[in-house]
Amino acid sequence: MYGHAAQIPEGWTAVSALNSILEAYGDLERRVQQRITRRWGGVCAHCATSCCRVDICEEALESVFLCRVREHFDQPGDFDPRFGWLGPGGCRLEVGRPPVCYAFFCDEIRNSLTPEAREQLDRLGSIMDRVGRVGPRGLHLVELTDPGDLEEINLDRFLSYADRARRALHGAGP
Ligand code: SF4
Repeated sequence: MYGHAAQIPEGWTAVSALNSILEAYGDLERRVQQRITRRWGGVCAHCATSCCRVDICEEALESVFLCRVREHFDQPGDFDPRFGWLGPGGCRLEVGRPPVCYAFFCDEIRNSLTPEAREQLDRLGSIMDRVGRVGPRGLHLVELTDPGDLEEINLDRFLSYADRARRALHGAGP
């Protein structure tokens, strides 16, 4: 029941609270992704190697929260055992990727930056990780494997983290 029943705003049900979390999470993920793609997509497009790995893709299968995010946003469900979510044009998931997919930047990108810009990049890349630290028993949303845990997400903390993240995205960044 979302941490404590009292945390659900008046008139909301557990379902509407979860839907609200899914909406806000997906919206934030899209914004983070757009920011990274706009700035660094060109480097990745010309790179001969891929940072993606099936074992990372699998994190998105194992987390009941990320599964719900993908369902909510009608994402592809056909996980490929060899390539995971990776397709010819890159990742096939618009949302519901593991947070680490936004946190890793290769040496080519990192070494091209000033220390200050690297710090900004790390802050941007860690947004989806930070916002997900709201599961029950200290678990991250990515670590939730029991569907019952979805009702124990700390709604207040999530909304506060998401709001802070949105403001950070509006601020200076790479
Ligand atoms: S970006 Fe997509 S394809 Fe790449 S590791 Fe993450 S989930 Fe897998």
